[in-house]
Amino acid sequence: MVSCSRCGKTGGKEQVSGKGLSLVTLSCEEGMGSGRVLVYCQECWIAMADCVAEVIPLEMVSPGVLLDLYRTGKTTSDPFTACQLVFGHAKPELVREAQALINSQCG
Ligand SMILES: [Zn+2]
Repeated sequence: MVSCSRCGKTGGKEQVSGKGLSLVTLSCEEGMGSGRVLVYCQECWIAMADCVAEVIPLEMVSPGVLLDLYRTGKTTSDPFTACQLVFGHAKPELVREAQALINSQCG
């Protein structure tokens, strides 16, 4: 079950009309490197707007979209955790691919 990382609210019925959950990357969390991936409900990302870099409605987030965040260096979030947050489970091949993109940025 995918839920808000901040308040724990799940998408449920509200997932329509942009009131559901969104993938966000945080830009100003201390000591976490660039852009940790979290899932926030609309209320929470508005409350945290100063710290939020990217907001992508979850219904628009595909594995390719997530990988793009890694490819473009917008996040170096732990791929396993990010996949679990965003998709509710971590696909091994997706985690591997994201990890490879992080590694290629470091090297
Ligand atoms: Zn929330």
